[in-house]
Amino acid sequence: MKLLKEKIEKEGNVLSDTVLKVDSFLNHQIDPLLMKEIGDELADRYADEVITKVLTIESSGIAPATFLGLTIGAPVVFARKRKSLTLTDNLYSSKVHSFTKNETNEISVSKNFLSPEDSVIIIDDFLANGEAVKGLLDIAEQAGAHVVGVGIVIEKGFQDGGKQLRKQGIRIESLARIKSLANGKVEFFEDGEF
Ligand code: 5GP
Repeated sequence: MKLLKEKIEKEGNVLSDTVLKVDSFLNHQIDPLLMKEIGDELADRYADEVITKVLTIESSGIAPATFLGLTIGAPVVFARKRKSLTLTDNLYSSKVHSFTKNETNEISVSKNFLSPEDSVIIIDDFLANGEAVKGLLDIAEQAGAHVVGVGIVIEKGFQDGGKQLRKQGIRIESLARIKSLANGKVEFFEDGEF
């Protein structure tokens, strides 16, 4: 997605060989015009599927997931990382190790919002080692919901998550695919190269 790549090139901050900071449009401040384009592009790529629910994880998955939900007219459910007082039982839960924070969180979704009748798309901001997506797949599986595929804003192709998930036969659509962050520089895969 051209607009997204340009934004990453212009505003992305390479923190190390493995971490990209995109706080100015995705992870802290949100660019709603770009998010609208992202939602539309994800909807286009999955236009061949019937989707009844968009599933993501707080907090950075919520913006792209919501714009997709708006475009396709489906509700958005986000897995919560901490149990709140109002979210005590009746939950699907899974464990997710965070690559950037180096901590393991239990993520949960209320049983009220996912069921075997649902056809789900999983959305997240980044795909690195695939832990967050695997946790969401686990939750969808517990609910007996059908997963049509995964939509990612930025995939870091030099980490293993995408490869592992595709090997399992899971459809993954990534809007920007990074080949390398070496030497403080963002290098993208060319279309079709991946
Ligand atoms: P994974 O679970 O695939 O290992 O990592 C994906 C999750 O970690 C995403 O939800 C995202 O929030 C975070 N993440 C992974 N890599 C990066 C990165 O390079 N930059 C930012 N900002 N977040 C990342």
